Amino acid sequence: MRKTILIVDDDSGVRIALREIFETLGHNSIGYENGEDAVSHISSADMLITDFNMPPGMNGAELAKMAKCERPDLPVIIMTGTRADVPSGHLANAVIEKPFDVELLEKVITDFL
Ligand SMILES: [Mg+2]
Repeated sequence: MRKTILIVDDDSGVRIALREIFETLGHNSIGYENGEDAVSHISSADMLITDFNMPPGMNGAELAKMAKCERPDLPVIIMTGTRADVPSGHLANAVIEKPFDVELLEKVITDFL
């Protein structure tokens, strides 16, 4: 079944790459460059994949917390260039490191969708 994935990253190249991957997997996706713009779209998403570091706005762990507060069952994935930056108490289902391996990313997506 075709799902809708919310992509949040301040890097447009990552948003474009992820949209292509989701398209290949047969899913719809919408990209936002910051968490603030994405928050109001959490209710209509089937998955959230967010960058961690998005200055000056909220970080991916903060966005994950807001998403889980509203939708406890929503699968949330955090992407980061530096795993150590992500606080251990984060509420995401998975943390993947950038640059990501496309096959690994596809596996994570498929596991949680
Ligand atoms: Mg970033």
